[in-house]
Amino acid sequence: MQNELTCNQVIALMNFYVEDKLNSKLKEYVDEHLRNCPKCRAIYMRSKKIVNQVLSENPNEKYQTKQYEEFKNNISAYIDNELDEKTSVRIKKIAITNPLARKDLEDMYTFKRLLHNSFDKTKSEWKSDYSKYIINKLNQYEEIEDPFTKIIGAFAVMIMLIVIGFLATLYF
Ligand SMILES: [Zn+2]
Repeated sequence: MQNELTCNQVIALMNFYVEDKLNSKLKEYVDEHLRNCPKCRAIYMRSKKIVNQVLSENPNEKYQTKQYEEFKNNISAYIDNELDEKTSVRIKKIAITNPLARKDLEDMYTFKRLLHNSFDKTKSEWKSDYSKYIINKLNQYEEIEDPFTKIIGAFAVMIMLIVIGFLATLYF
């Protein structure tokens, strides 16, 4: 073959080859070389394995721990200061160390703030904003929710709207 690559050239291209970023011609040359060169083939197999490991490491999965489950079960109570001190400290620690938990906590605070700020708005604006927020939230989690959770969610929204309606009649 006229354009035969040397081992050094193949190794220099290895990263791109493994990630499938070479143009088809160049890829063909590397293919050809790997077929005939056990040394480069071994390097290729090793590189491929490493790249696959990195790609399959889902950063989200890493944080779906038992601790995170506990955190999710207690986040509302935590924000409302309903937990005993020991549990509260534990939940706080999880929120600091687990990015998923931290994100959830931020979302919850945003949610609370929104609820709080809403007191400054008129009754109708408040209601529509609030419903929109809940609907957005539900849509975000739709993929992972089973029908049962959805029904519970819808029910929770209904209860909240009733409570809001009740509060609204008190405040306005
Ligand atoms: Zn070689």
